[in-house]
Amino acid sequence: MTTEESEALSRRARAGREESGLTGRTLVSLEELRSAVNECRRCTLWKATTQGVPGEGLGRSRLMLVGEAPGDSEDRQGHPFVGPAGAILDRALQDAGLGRDSVYITNAVKHFKFEPRGKRRLHIKPSASEIEACHWWLGEELRLVAPKLVMALGGTAARALLGHPVIVSQLRGSPTRLSATAHLWVTIHPSFLLRVPDDAQRRNEYARFVKELKDAIAWIETH
Ligand code: SF4
Repeated sequence: MTTEESEALSRRARAGREESGLTGRTLVSLEELRSAVNECRRCTLWKATTQGVPGEGLGRSRLMLVGEAPGDSEDRQGHPFVGPAGAILDRALQDAGLGRDSVYITNAVKHFKFEPRGKRRLHIKPSASEIEACHWWLGEELRLVAPKLVMALGGTAARALLGHPVIVSQLRGSPTRLSATAHLWVTIHPSFLLRVPDDAQRRNEYARFVKELKDAIAWIETH
């Protein structure tokens, strides 16, 4: 086989993989993200879900929020952070003086991972390989939104963005450089606030989360 024939073969193989969604495709705009995510076969999570859940919000936002993965409500509705954790996030954004439409909100992994338990579907944390497979789409969102600051909501988001496991408490509280144009701010996932059993502690944790959102906005304004 000549070099030209072998190059043509590998081009066809690549095109076939792209057509079947096995590889990521480079997006021209965020409007393509929903269909791209729904065609994606880079991991097997899509199989049991209702639909993929792409990020949404302000297309050229200076602030991007990244959560872990869609939950049951997000899977049914097709939008990120529309369940109980999303309600807390909305309230915290509002208390920090931000509207949801003034930021871009997404998840590290775009399909819901769960375990059936009777009629319920219990959320399962995505694996390292699923986070890695889905990083293609997070990378596309980062490129197209081009935020100045990315807030990782929880360890899975931080892991996806940094490419290695992270202890949230060690990185929380101040920005670190993520790329030539963006910084990363690691904080909790709002679902953590749902799990704090003590009322006073939950109020303190919520106040800390809102303060971090305010500090993040102040940092954007001054850098
Ligand atoms: S979770 Fe991500 S990588 Fe896996 S199929 Fe869905 S979009 Fe593709």
